[in-house]
Amino acid sequence: MAPREACAVFSAYSRSADADVSGLIFGGLLALQHRGQESAGMTVLKNNRLLTFKGVGLVLQVFDRNVLKELRSPRGIGHVRYSTYGASAFRNAQPIEFNSKPRFALCFNGTIVNYDELRTELKGKGYRFETTSDSEVIGYLISDGLKHNSTLVEAIRYAMDKLEGAYSVTLLSEDGSMAVFRDPYGFRPLCMGYMKDLDAYVFSSETAGLDAVNASFIEDVQPGSIKLVEDGKVRSVKVSESRHAHCMFEWVYFARQDSAIEGIDVFEVRWRLGEKLAELNPVDVDYVVPVPETSRVAALGYSARSGIPIMEGFGVNRYALRTFIMPANRGYFARLKLNPLKRVLKGKRIVLIDDSIVRGTTSRTIVSMLKKAGVKEVHLKITCPPLIAPCYMGVDFPTFEELIAHGRSVEDIRRAIGADSLTYMTVEGLVEAIGLPRDELCLACLTGIYPEGIRPRFKSREVIKR
Ligand code: SF4
Repeated sequence: MAPREACAVFSAYSRSADADVSGLIFGGLLALQHRGQESAGMTVLKNNRLLTFKGVGLVLQVFDRNVLKELRSPRGIGHVRYSTYGASAFRNAQPIEFNSKPRFALCFNGTIVNYDELRTELKGKGYRFETTSDSEVIGYLISDGLKHNSTLVEAIRYAMDKLEGAYSVTLLSEDGSMAVFRDPYGFRPLCMGYMKDLDAYVFSSETAGLDAVNASFIEDVQPGSIKLVEDGKVRSVKVSESRHAHCMFEWVYFARQDSAIEGIDVFEVRWRLGEKLAELNPVDVDYVVPVPETSRVAALGYSARSGIPIMEGFGVNRYALRTFIMPANRGYFARLKLNPLKRVLKGKRIVLIDDSIVRGTTSRTIVSMLKKAGVKEVHLKITCPPLIAPCYMGVDFPTFEELIAHGRSVEDIRRAIGADSLTYMTVEGLVEAIGLPRDELCLACLTGIYPEGIRPRFKSREVIKR
């Protein structure tokens, strides 16, 4: 099962002073809940002042009718968080307000690779850090830019020149303008839409967020660019050019299957991955069984290509959140979440489809549960190639040592997991399934080759967990 991811943003700017976008942002965040479950928050512009409400927990736990009533406003930004860096605490919940001139609030999805250097530099300039979240570094850089009497766009450009890493940011200023910007590589997605009923521009980490609030898709925010919404008009500013490095894991796992990332349908990519898996090392089995939920589409593709019937293999506890949320014992939580359907599977040979193997703990637990339930053969097929290197761009992969595929052969991994056979998707197959040129994708965790300009920094878990 898959690694953790860091956050989603959703913001809306209505051109009508009477409109209320708080419900829209609430709906958008709910649609993006899969990207972060630790905290949720919203900042709106109320009587020309910023008003922020945030809390630890799910969107439905943080916001209620009364809170949304308080947050009625024509403009706002929202966030759901999973922490890759920074403790999982209220103080790190986003958006964060910055007391500059003008005052602004921002929230982001990603990870700043040169956080430590920038934090030291900014501390030297007198900025006081109250959180361990990367957002504070971004906000103080923009504050620093604004100090030099520059415009918001110039201040963001100043910050982008200094930032290294992955960032998709949305910002609301007390002067009434809104800005979004994205790192030059485009690691994390960010798109723009329009909602006719509220005459509102909407920005969302995924297109599924736009669909959820009945906004129509306009375009992806281009990597290395800023979009400023001011006086009801949107202005695009290109800041820097670089090779794109869209995270392959958005298609494999993170994004909703009903989203399109960089114009490429997630559902179709997962289907193609399943078809391709069926072509690699075919096996004679009774059923194709997906590990819920992300692998269902790939299992459908596998079944369609191989002619082997797809079968539900597990009862799922929908109240046990994705196993990655729980920092402790992953095997224990896999058991809480999944229960093999003994009557269906007993005595059968199955192909089990999953999206990825990180440490191997969850896969080992699932295979062992299936064997205990009487499954005769478990042939594990993984839509993501072996993860051999950590991610420094916002995904909480563990260190080299903790990644089961680092320095191990597929046969070693198969033995450790206890499956009867193990097949990974190839890197070439994955690139083909996504359909973008290889040099527009980030494949660093699969190849160990990081995009130029991204310097691998952390060697141990202790260092990674600030
Ligand atoms: S290293 Fe892997 S998970 Fe991280 S951004 Fe690149 S492709 Fe995505």
